[in-house]
Formats: sequence, C-alpha cells, structure tokens
Amino acid sequence: MIDAHIHLDDSRFDDDREALIKQAQDAGVQKFIVPAVGVNGFEKLKNLSEVNKAIIPAYGLHPYFLNQHQKSDIQRLNDWLQTNDRCAVGECGLDYFIKDLDKNLQQFYFDAQIELAKKNNLPLILHARNAVDAVYNSLKNADYFNAMIHSYNGSIEQTKKLLEHGIKFSFGGVLCNPKATKIHELVKFFPSDSIMLETDAPDQNLYPDFKLRNLPVNLLKIAQYYAELKGKTLQRVEDETTEVTETFFRLKSAS
Ligand SMILES: [Zn+2]
Repeated sequence: MIDAHIHLDDSRFDDDREALIKQAQDAGVQKFIVPAVGVNGFEKLKNLSEVNKAIIPAYGLHPYFLNQHQKSDIQRLNDWLQTNDRCAVGECGLDYFIKDLDKNLQQFYFDAQIELAKKNNLPLILHARNAVDAVYNSLKNADYFNAMIHSYNGSIEQTKKLLEHGIKFSFGGVLCNPKATKIHELVKFFPSDSIMLETDAPDQNLYPDFKLRNLPVNLLKIAQYYAELKGKTLQRVEDETTEVTETFFRLKSAS
C-alpha cells in the first residue's frame, strides 16, 4: 500500500520517525507521499527523502500557513521544483474553515501554484476545507485538472463535477468513525479508480482518540474500514488504491 498523504516531515515524528516507518512497512505500507507545507520545510523534507527512499516528496505552500508565506516563495518553489525530485505540487489549496485566513491572499498563492503545476507538468495535491466549489472554480479558470483532493468532504453534486474532470480523492481516518455516515455514503458513491487512502498523520487520528498523534501504521485500519464500506476484500482494496496512487503520482516510471 501507499499512504497518499502523510506529513512524515512533521516535528512530532522527529524522535521516532524511522521506527514508525518500519512499523508501517511491516504492516504493508511501502511508500509515503509527503507534501511540504512551506519553503522553510523544503530542505528538511528533501533530506528525509534522500535518507529513506520510501518517502516521496512533494512541495507546496499550504493555505493554513498563509501568514508565513511571502510572494517571493512562488519563485523559490518554482526553482525548487525544477531542481529536485518531486511527485507533485502541494500541499496547496483553499481553507475557508479557518475564518482569519484572508481569502484573496489564499487565492493568490493557490492560483500561482496551479500555474506552476501546469508549467512543470506535475499533479496537484489539494486541500479544500469548506472550499470545494472555490477549488473547483480555480482549477476550471486555469483549465488544469490534474489534481487530487485529500481528506475530501463534498456533496454528491460537487463530486460529480470533479469526477467528470478526472480529479482523484483520498480518504483517511474519518472512514473509521461510526458517526461519519455522510462520508461513508459518499465513499460508496465513488468509482474505485478515483480513490486513494491516506492517514494525514500526525493529524486526524482515528476515532475515538482524536487528540492523540496519528501514526503511519494506521493506514492498514483505514484500508480495512474502507474495504468493509465497499464490500470488498482487503487485498482487492489494497491493489486498487495502490494502482490509483502509483498512476496518479507516476511512481512506476519514476522508480
Ligand atoms: Zn495535509
């Protein structure tokens, strides 16, 4: 399996990163898509990915850290993408859940990163919290849909529009929450060739211990719940989601 979205570079993993990677690999998770969230983390992620080849890096400017970004970071990101191994541009996107993040400024960074993805022929890793329509409109304006939305939570109507353009989605620990019935219905609706699985660790720990640190090994539990929702075997779900992830991030030709 491949974890399609995990922040393994986060400082909360500094003390035991290698042990946790090993634990996840023993449980069947071979690779990890790790998106940086700001230029200050690029060097660290690059170094980690050179030490451990299971870490596949992507680079972007996350809307959550909007106030740490500078306009010159766009140029830096562009230069970085052109000179380093990477599988995507991201994590980027829009966050309308957090009220004090300036929407216009978020849009500026997001539009610029869509252009960088387009120019460098790279897929996008998207964050679309309470902002699915706005993210869709941004992609439409740029006429670029080579994107996956992580921790997706939209309506069926929104989902149909995104699927028409071949956009992919990933789901994580929320699948294991018995109260998350809306997401469960949504997941059943998706065609299997559009879905990847993620932990988003160290965030989004599994029900009911939301406050605890989420771990890479939890991808296995997420896959088990997902298999149950889809009425498929774990093996089939592992094969299908791995195929989607490898194809989307072009891991087959890169390795
Ligand atoms: Zn993330």
